[in-house]
Amino acid sequence: MNLQKIKNQNIKIPQCTLCPRLIEHCKNISEKKRKAFINEKYWGKPVPSFGDPKAKLFILGLAPAAHGANRTGRMFTGDRSGEWLYRALYKAGFSNQMESVHSTDSLKLKNAYITATAHCAPPQNKPTPEEIKNCLPYLENEIKWIPIKVYLVLGQIALNSLWKTLSPNQKKPKFKHLGEHRLPDGRVILMSYHPSQQNTFTKRLTEPMFDEVFHRANQLIQS
Ligand code: SF4
Repeated sequence: MNLQKIKNQNIKIPQCTLCPRLIEHCKNISEKKRKAFINEKYWGKPVPSFGDPKAKLFILGLAPAAHGANRTGRMFTGDRSGEWLYRALYKAGFSNQMESVHSTDSLKLKNAYITATAHCAPPQNKPTPEEIKNCLPYLENEIKWIPIKVYLVLGQIALNSLWKTLSPNQKKPKFKHLGEHRLPDGRVILMSYHPSQQNTFTKRLTEPMFDEVFHRANQLIQS
């Protein structure tokens, strides 16, 4: 499989095998499992995007977590980062329930769509530049058919990937929590720290700070 094949044949994300290191890692994790989830069947392959295809809010994270989305099969589901994200989405009116437990639960997003820079769980949560590049065609496709008004990037790497897709020849805006960059077509890139444990445990990102991001996203959507 190569990039052109992804583009030409509209290959579905869960069937992608473009990054052998990541495919192997996802599979290994799904076989070894974490003790707490030993009786669960892991998803163990590329995780598709999730949400409302008519969304005005487009959320871009980094990559599935090994025992989170790689286990449950839904973006940001089954780990602490996801708990923060879905709670904030619910409070801001973007979903019908506060929790996302598994891809089979009844959660529905309203006007929000979640995707990632890399769709496979990477070792140490770090996809390589080549793996990120491999995954960009999926992002390119999605931003063509979703009627986005606000791109919410969770972290610097998400901003880098989005910028490569939108405006590769222009100077990239500086990443800043609650920073905004208006594109020539009127859409806005809104920036937030990623709700990773590294950020939330250290209080670099607090819950009120994260809620403010979604409050601002709502304002931008309605403006
Ligand atoms: S990270 Fe993206 S491009 Fe690489 S194997 Fe997973 S889905 Fe395919």
